[in-house]
Amino acid sequence: MKVSRMDHPNSGIKCVVNTCHYYMSGDQCSAEKIEVQPRNAGNAEETDCATFIAENRQ
Ligand code: SF4
Repeated sequence: MKVSRMDHPNSGIKCVVNTCHYYMSGDQCSAEKIEVQPRNAGNAEETDCATFIAENRQ
């Protein structure tokens, strides 16, 4: 799910996935919205951010 990357963090989200296109230092997310999957998950370990896009690292 490609969403807009804002120039400021989404204050409602803490995320430590520092390999994501939307990640901002301080464990923040710059996506305007995120999608979490899957339906019928049984615990937090089973859930994932479906908005994640791998950042190209040089
Ligand atoms: S899009 Fe998802 S994985 Fe990427 S920084 Fe935001 S919350 Fe984290």
